[in-house]
Amino acid sequence: MVNPAVPHLYVVAEEGGEGPVKFGINASRDSATGRPGLNSGNPRRLEVLHRQRIPLADLRWAEWLIHQRLRLYHERGEWFDVRRLVENGDWEGFVEGVLAGTADGIEEWSLRGPTGHELARMERVSEHGGPRHFRAVCECGFDMDGGPRLSMPTVQKLFAVQHLGLDPASPAVRALGRQIHHQRATDDVGGS
Ligand SMILES: [Zn+2]
Repeated sequence: MVNPAVPHLYVVAEEGGEGPVKFGINASRDSATGRPGLNSGNPRRLEVLHRQRIPLADLRWAEWLIHQRLRLYHERGEWFDVRRLVENGDWEGFVEGVLAGTADGIEEWSLRGPTGHELARMERVSEHGGPRHFRAVCECGFDMDGGPRLSMPTVQKLFAVQHLGLDPASPAVRALGRQIHHQRATDDVGGS
């Protein structure tokens, strides 16, 4: 497993259980233990099944893709019932397969406009400790910087309407506001 002090995606589960697992991210570079609040607010102890190092610029996007592509298995919050999809406990291979869109049993997810333009990826832009912001990159090469303090889904919505030409009231755009609810207050393994 990776050093928990570097930006990473994690998979946790209730200790000793066979139930759903939680996919989350920890973007902090300097957390003392890498497990701040791991068990706070949760009546059962959690164990870390996997940590995967992902560059900070791609971390939030990776989490988003995993949550979208596993939505068939969504249980609650950031918890997903996916153990049956993971062969021989190979969480790393599973996460890579989901991120590549090649894992068996997952759903496709894309954001495409009527003119054929499509969101290629989202990037977190970090500039010397300044406020984080997100950039949406189109398959055509165009990119839109959402500016400081806008959440990733908010920037996706702006991009969908302004560049992809989607109707703000369309199901695809409205769905961006119904992202997996992050239960940060009670069920967190670290800030993001
Ligand atoms: Zn484009």
